[in-house]
Amino acid sequence: MDFTVSEKTQTMLDLMNEFIEKEVIPLEQQFLLQGSEGIDKKLFEKQQKVKEMELWAPLHPKDVGGMGLQLMESALVFEVIAKTPLGLTVFGCQAPDAGNIEILHEYATPEQKEEFLLPLVAGKIRSCFSMTEVDLPGSNPVMMDTMAVKDGDDYVINGHKWFTSGADGSAFAILMAVTNPEAEPHKRASMIIVPTNTPGFNLVRNVSVMGHSGKGFGTHAEILYQNCRVPRKNLLGPEGHGFILAQKRLGPGRIHHCMRFIAISKRALDMMCKRAVQRPIAPGQVLADKQIIQGWIAECAADIHAAKLMVLHAAWMIQNVGVKNARKEIAYIKYFVANVMMKVIDRAIQVHGALGMTDDTILSYWYRHERASRIFDGPDEAHKSAVSRQILKNYR
Ligand SMILES: Cc1cc2nc3c(=O)[nH]c(=O)nc-3n(C[C@H](O)[C@H](O)[C@H](O)COP(=O)(O)OP(=O)(O)OC[C@H]3O[C@@H](n4cnc5c(N)ncnc54)[C@H](O)[C@@H]3O)c2cc1C
Repeated sequence: MDFTVSEKTQTMLDLMNEFIEKEVIPLEQQFLLQGSEGIDKKLFEKQQKVKEMELWAPLHPKDVGGMGLQLMESALVFEVIAKTPLGLTVFGCQAPDAGNIEILHEYATPEQKEEFLLPLVAGKIRSCFSMTEVDLPGSNPVMMDTMAVKDGDDYVINGHKWFTSGADGSAFAILMAVTNPEAEPHKRASMIIVPTNTPGFNLVRNVSVMGHSGKGFGTHAEILYQNCRVPRKNLLGPEGHGFILAQKRLGPGRIHHCMRFIAISKRALDMMCKRAVQRPIAPGQVLADKQIIQGWIAECAADIHAAKLMVLHAAWMIQNVGVKNARKEIAYIKYFVANVMMKVIDRAIQVHGALGMTDDTILSYWYRHERASRIFDGPDEAHKSAVSRQILKNYR
């Protein structure tokens, strides 16, 4: 593997980093106190600046208005722009839109692209992804109750979903629903585009998560689909191919999630070090003089380094041998990197003492929100189970 970063890529990363440091991180305090509504207008202004700098949508294809970066390059971009929770939105590559864009780009019809994909990449609308159900295990989504039944030129949808992130304010959902109940389990479900203003798309509530139900993009909605009728032309890809499309969404998406975790870990470590050298702990002594703190810093730095190399290796594997042959590496990084991040955030809070618990720094926000990293996109245990199956098959 070659770790050289080209001069052109480095210049781009430096520009992005400067923008994040000078223009985006200063908005965090207002975001922490007022939520996303408090800074909507400012975020929009920053997005316009990013577009003027021609740095918009780095990971999306050129033919739809993105920069079309390769996976390895876009991984490095995430390491820079995700060090603040606002960075991905400012640069036009936030979840779940990014994953939806990937699917739409590959499978949407020309009409679907015109109506849904182009305005989504341009940041004019938002979208959500509606798969997880209230009563069945998200870790095994083949078990699914939501039905889309053909009726003339339409599908009629009934089902109960939750954790449809960002549904509040979205223009459309990409829904997973059973269209072929008689088929084998992995061929029963399809993806269907459901505009959120369709009668029968009922947003019940933004589920309160770690004390906050929020508003807008940072929310997780419960949705009741009740006789929700959409035209059959809203089907994405072939009928019964929902899980095949979902698999496509996972490889590169995982790299971006994990590089976001690295970005957070690096900033938390940076904050930990800055605090450690400033905070007096005894006359003539600061926290950084304590061996236990030095040990934490050294451990965290090595963990982050190992985690980053694993993610870059998985990205290299995807780019060079394809998602199918990189399954183990893609699974490793999910649980390894999420746990490194949680450990680093926890240590950083500990070093900050009471300040770490406040919303005067970004650490407590991450502690609340990033705990979910060990659950979404497959819980740790599901990935460990898949990895151990692959390893053990050579021994059984
Ligand atoms: C913040 C957040 C955002 C989300 N956003 C979205 C979204 O936008 N769209 C969407 O559709 N879904 C979303 N989800 C849902 C997410 O995908 C599911 O929560 C996840 O797949 C786990 O499903 P579950 O919650 O039903 O847990 P379950 O499937 O009930 O699993 C519960 C626990 O069982 C254990 N477990 C699971 N599998 C195994 C195994 N094989 N071996 C041993 N133990 C196991 C794990 O500890 C797991 O945490 C989001 C979730 C969170 C927390």
